[in-house]
Parts: sequence; structure tokens; C-alpha cells
Amino acid sequence: MTTESTQFDLFSNGGEATGSPPLSPSPVAPTHSTEENCTSLEDLARDCGNCQRCALASTRTHVVISRGNPLAQLMLIGEGPGQHEDETGLPFVGRAGRLLDQILASVGFDQEQDIYICNVVKCRPPGNRKPTPEEMARCRPWLQWQIQLVNPAVVLLAGSTAMTGVLGIKTGITKMRGQWIERDGRAYMPVFHPSFLLRNASRHKGDPKWLTWEDFKAVRARLDKLEASAQSRETLH
Ligand code: SF4
Repeated sequence: MTTESTQFDLFSNGGEATGSPPLSPSPVAPTHSTEENCTSLEDLARDCGNCQRCALASTRTHVVISRGNPLAQLMLIGEGPGQHEDETGLPFVGRAGRLLDQILASVGFDQEQDIYICNVVKCRPPGNRKPTPEEMARCRPWLQWQIQLVNPAVVLLAGSTAMTGVLGIKTGITKMRGQWIERDGRAYMPVFHPSFLLRNASRHKGDPKWLTWEDFKAVRARLDKLEASAQSRETLH
């Protein structure tokens, strides 16, 4: 019997998304654009923007797909849009988003250039509730295509819902945050969700904000190392 933890994660074959892409670092060559086969992020934005695959379509104002740079080596995946995101059509633009931008800037990441930001579900769950496992499963093909088309080296999972939805891990985020998890040629790291940090504002050593800063410094170091390796390979050729 399939467990809940494996039924809806991106690396299982469970759920509704039978036509979802393989999460290979080498993209397949799709022939047409649907939720099952997107040829580009532009096609994905158009088709996802009309999605009616789950009940969240009936209460949304905007489908919230992404912000940032689709060429970035770093992706951050959150839970789902809140009120401000639903109103603007952009992820992480409320208080939590501003805090995220500050954290990124503190380790030298530019919010426009150095990261691509999206969510597990693209439409706002009413009342800011967590998306249900079925909603996450129905939205899964869009996220899979985003990961495949952006092809980041490092993926941050902000909060336990993103960690469960993407990796199927149900261990608490407090235990998992800061750990590197290698899947399908990429490095994933669960981190605290910025909304949680807004409720836990202490910066003392060992507190969530301090730990998050440590996590982002580790991400910065990993990406710097990757870039240095790529540059040295170019020099050799
Ligand atoms: S949440 Fe995802 S699956 Fe549901 S309607 Fe929005 S885009 Fe479609």
C-alpha cells in the first residue's frame, strides 16, 4: 500500500499526474504544451494560467506562477499563495516575501537575478489554509515542469508543506532544516518558511532566524563552489 508520504512527492509515480515529466537534469524534448508536456516556461505560464485541475481555481484571483530569474541556479519553493500573492499574481510579495528578500540580500543574492521563486500550489487556498494532498497532487505537473525547465542546481524547500510535497519527507522541519538532500542530480535543502520566522523574530544564536542565516550561508557557499568549478573547467578548455 502506498503511504501518504510517498503518494504525493515529486519523485513517486503516485497521484494524478500520470503524464508528469521525468525529473532528469537532461530535459526531454516535449512536442506540445499541456500540463503533461510543456515546451517552455512561457507555455507553462499560459497553460497553468488557465488551469482548472483543482477546486482552488474557483476561488483564486490570479494563478501565482513565479518571480525571479528562470536562468538562476537557485530555486525556492514555498507552500502556496497568500492574500497579497493572490492579488498581485506574484509569489512571496507580502511581509514574508520582504523578509525572504532581506535574507537573500544578507548573503549577497539578488532577488531578481540569483533565484527563481515559486510554490507547491499555484492558487491560493482560502483562508490561507494548507493545501490538501489532493490539491498538491493535481498541481504537481506544473511544479515538475518548472523544476525541469529552470533546471536549478540547488532547491530550497521553505517550510514543511513544501518539504513533504516535493520530497515526501514528513519529519519535522526543525529536524530537517539545513540538511542537504541529493535527489535526481540536484541538491535540496529544507529551510524554515519566512512566515514562521516572522512569528519567531529572535536573532539569538540557535534560534530559527539565526539558523536560517546559517542555512543561506551554506547555500551561498555551495553555489560559489559550483561556479568556481565551472569557471575552472572553462579555463581548461
Ligand atoms: S492550484 Fe494548481 S492544479 Fe489547482 S487550479 Fe491552481 S494551478 Fe491548477
